[in-house]
Amino acid sequence: MKQNLKDLTLPELETYFERLGEKRYRAKQVFRWLYQGVDSFDEMSDISIALREKLKEHAEITVLKIVERKISKQDGTRKYLFELSDGNMIESVFMKYKYGNSICISSQAGCRMGCIFCASGKDGLARNLSVGEMVDQILKVEQDAGEKINHVVIMGTGEPFDNYGNMSSFIKIINDKHGLHIGMRNITVSTCGIIPKISAFAEDFPQVNLAISLHASNDAERKKIMPIANKYSFDELLITCQKYTDKTGRRITFEYTLIAGKNDDIKHAEELASKLQGLLCHVNLIPMNEVSELEVKASSKPKVQQFLKKLQEKHIAATVRRELGSDIDAACGQLRLSKITL
Ligand code: SF4
Repeated sequence: MKQNLKDLTLPELETYFERLGEKRYRAKQVFRWLYQGVDSFDEMSDISIALREKLKEHAEITVLKIVERKISKQDGTRKYLFELSDGNMIESVFMKYKYGNSICISSQAGCRMGCIFCASGKDGLARNLSVGEMVDQILKVEQDAGEKINHVVIMGTGEPFDNYGNMSSFIKIINDKHGLHIGMRNITVSTCGIIPKISAFAEDFPQVNLAISLHASNDAERKKIMPIANKYSFDELLITCQKYTDKTGRRITFEYTLIAGKNDDIKHAEELASKLQGLLCHVNLIPMNEVSELEVKASSKPKVQQFLKKLQEKHIAATVRRELGSDIDAACGQLRLSKITL
C-alpha cells in the first residue's frame, strides 16, 4: 500500500525519507509543498525528477472531493460535504468572524457516542478519519474559498478523543511552521468528556483550547442526553476539569445545547451555576438546530435568554452562540445524514 504523505508529521516524513534512502531535508521541501496545497508530485519544482518518480512509486497524496457546498448570503458561512476515497461522507464548515476565518472540521465519519440531539451520530460510527483526511478539510476549503484559515475547531462529526492518535498528529501538522502554521491557541478541541483523554490532552497540548459538551446540570439528566455519562460521572468530569485548569491555567468552555423540556429550565441553570462555581470556565449556550430525523426540539428564545440571565446572575461567564449561516440552515451532520439515508 502506498504511504499517504499527508498522514505524516514532519519528523515522521523525515524518517520516511531516510527509509527511502533520501536526505532528511528533502522531506521538509515536500512537506512545505503539501501545505501550500500542492497535490501532485510533478508540481514540486525544486524536487528532482528522479525523486518525484520514486515518490510516485511508493507514496501518494490523497485529496477530498467536494460533493456539495452551501454558501450563506447573509454572512459568508460555507458548509461543505466531502466524499472520502472509500465513499464515506464528512462535513466541514467555514465561518468568518471579526478575529479571522475559522473552520469546524470532522474527526470521524459518523460517531459512536449517540448524543440524542445530534444528527452526526445518528447512524453510528463508520470509521476514524486519517490524519490526511483531517488536514485536507482545511486545505480544500482554503482553496475553494480563496481565503486563509487561522482558527480551527475540531467540533464537527465525530469525537476527537475517540481518534486521539490521528487528532494529535493533525494538531502537530497544522501547528508546524512549515505546515499550516496555525497557533496552538487558535485551535480548539471539543469532547463529550472522555476523562482519561482529557488528562492526556492536558499533558500533550496544554496550549490548545478545550471545550467539553456538558448539556446537563446533573448526572441523571446527562445520562438521558449523552450515553457517555453512563461511563464517566458528572462529578468525576468536574474533578478532571479542575485538574486540567490547575495544570494548564487555561479556561474550559462548556458547551450546553438547550433542548426543550430536557435541560432548559431555570432550575437547571441554578444547578449548573452551583456546580461550576469556582471553576475557570465559560458556558457556551447553543440554541439547538432542529433536525426532522431527531425527536428532540429546540428551546424557545425566551427560555434561552432566561437561562443565560440566571447563569450571569450567579457570576458564571456565559454567552449564547451566535448563529451563523442560518439561511443555509442545515444542522451539524445533517448534510451527511441526508446523503446516507437516501
Ligand atoms: S455531539 Fe459529538 S460526541 Fe455526541 S454524537 Fe454528536 S458528534 Fe458524537
